[in-house]
Amino acid sequence: MNKEYSIDAYSERRAEREWMVHTQLVSRDITDETVINSMSLVPRHKFVREDKQDLAYYDTPLEIDSGQTISQPYMVALMAQALSLKASDRVLEIGTGSGYSAAILSRIALRVYTIERHQVLASLAEERFRKQGYKNIEVRVGDGTLGWQEKAPFDAILVTAGGPVIPDPLLDQLAVGGRLVIPVGERGEQSLLRLKKTMSGKLITENLGGVRFVPLIGMRGWDERIKNS
Ligand code: SAM
Repeated sequence: MNKEYSIDAYSERRAEREWMVHTQLVSRDITDETVINSMSLVPRHKFVREDKQDLAYYDTPLEIDSGQTISQPYMVALMAQALSLKASDRVLEIGTGSGYSAAILSRIALRVYTIERHQVLASLAEERFRKQGYKNIEVRVGDGTLGWQEKAPFDAILVTAGGPVIPDPLLDQLAVGGRLVIPVGERGEQSLLRLKKTMSGKLITENLGGVRFVPLIGMRGWDERIKNS
């Protein structure tokens, strides 16, 4: 796969990005070199509105369009690390949002398929991928709780919104040996779960700790009619 990116976007705000990587990731528990490398390269400021760009390398989530958020850098790194990605992996992401985490994953893995329920966010993310030279990311608008059957199975699945349960279609679309990372729990607070599908098809679940994500809305998620979606 030819991975050529915009040099301009990379050279901008490089010192701030290095500072973010050292103070927020390496000084905590992010040790996966592929994740550290990717977080050092992807220009987070290009995934937020211009008026938020000065805040892009701080240790915080930020507002994006459609009432959604781009996750805190540490959380993106933690989830990417939990996926234990290989260069040959095909990854499904639910919740494209700004496109930032898809860009991080796409520099490590072979291909990323990402689903967003808000058309405006999907279009903005696609535009960012095009401008910055990300050619191995495919975006679709829809309900990610149903997965992306035509592209399954996936070596890794990342859900970046919190649901009440683990959607069955995602478990079905996970390859043998695959990893699924998803926040599950109440609307305001969830546990970040990592599931691994063993050779025998059995699922091994680990709890990586408490997190707070925007709600996963859909057929196998929360009801859209409840406020804060
Ligand atoms: N990965 C994103 C980023 O890097 O900016 C963070 C996304 S934000 C925390 C979660 C996203 O999940 C929101 O954009 C929201 O619209 C989306 N979402 C919620 N439910 C969804 C569903 N069923 N299918 C697809 N996207 C969904």
